[in-house]
Amino acid sequence: MADQGFLKQKPGFATIAIHVGQDPDKWNSAAVVPPIVTSTTFKQPAPAEHTGFEYGRSGNPTRNTLEECLAALDGGKYGLTFASGLGATTSIVGLLSKGDHIISTDDVYGGTNRLFRQVVERFGIEISFLDFTKPELIDKSIRKTTKMIWIETPTNPNLKVADIAEISKKVKSHNKDIMVVVDNTFLTSYLQRPLEHGADMVVYSLTKYMNGHSDVIMGAAILNDSEIEKKLRFLQNAMGIVPSPIDCYLVNRSLKTLALRMEQHKKSSLLVAEWLLKQPKVVEIYHPGLPSHPQYDIACKQMSGHSGVFSFRHSGGLKESRKFLSSLKVFTLAESLGGYESLAELPSVMTHASVPAAQREELGITDSLLRLSVGLEDTEDLIADLDQAFAAAFQ
Ligand SMILES: *Cc1c(COP(=O)(O)O)cnc(C)c1O
Repeated sequence: MADQGFLKQKPGFATIAIHVGQDPDKWNSAAVVPPIVTSTTFKQPAPAEHTGFEYGRSGNPTRNTLEECLAALDGGKYGLTFASGLGATTSIVGLLSKGDHIISTDDVYGGTNRLFRQVVERFGIEISFLDFTKPELIDKSIRKTTKMIWIETPTNPNLKVADIAEISKKVKSHNKDIMVVVDNTFLTSYLQRPLEHGADMVVYSLTKYMNGHSDVIMGAAILNDSEIEKKLRFLQNAMGIVPSPIDCYLVNRSLKTLALRMEQHKKSSLLVAEWLLKQPKVVEIYHPGLPSHPQYDIACKQMSGHSGVFSFRHSGGLKESRKFLSSLKVFTLAESLGGYESLAELPSVMTHASVPAAQREELGITDSLLRLSVGLEDTEDLIADLDQAFAAAFQ
């Protein structure tokens, strides 16, 4: 398969994933696989003297191992992990104060939308929502109090792609202290590294592709600025939204196959999308790997490919969507994405049900829009499954 015109993959990624932070010599046992350190407290040689660890909330050897590896994968200096993706977001927003202003992607992840509108605003922080595929709108939206730009790209479920370099440049021309944060959950550091395009911070729901096995809820932030790192490290401990050492072990282990997994997600999702293009009941496909995607040029400029998540619209309505989804046998009808198993869902009544109806309509999230997360099963089986579900839904 050709590289589809995407940014060339940076050499050395898989080596970093396997080795950075994993030096056996840092453990007394010289363990090749990092041990799971569950101890919540650490012995001190003398009062108020410690050997790097005091208490499990403020630091843990297994967590540090994972954080170091995550930072290196994004080409960042610092990595911090949190109890969930939204826990990372909560902690990052904790860097702001009453009266500050955030500009966020308009079709931002539903949970981020809920956190911003129903929690963060109550603390006196103002939030504007913007379509970042139109960067010219930024000039009018920036205020004296703007402190943070929250970009998600590609978005969900419409897979809109925002130009990270252009937005960062524009924002910094107004005020270089405004922090540009990119939620990189949909692509992972294997397919997109926002710090290399001018962003200040990358945020992850590690729950999705980074862990990739649908068995851990965790989040992360990656950044280069040492002052902000100190503040965020303080908040990680002060707010206490930290992950468990066992979960850190699992995510650290999953990173070892990240490159392989993403390559396969990329290949399989394109094959499935190309098959869907030929189906008479399919009206539109929203997939950043298809040249028909409205921001394909931007995608090629900043991404080294696309993941396994995309959406399509069919010619039926709610009845056909329900029948289609309940007929699937290899795809599982479920929320979430990014695991080895293929998932399918109906955003209008599932992941995006909490988005107000008017906004849903504006974003085109109708009952005929289905979202797929193409997993790592054999593509022939996935396509056969979709084929029989179409037959059942449109008989
Ligand atoms: C899932 C998700 C989140 C939230 O992460 P959790 O780990 O579920 O808290 C944030 N952003 C995006 C894009 C997501 O898909």
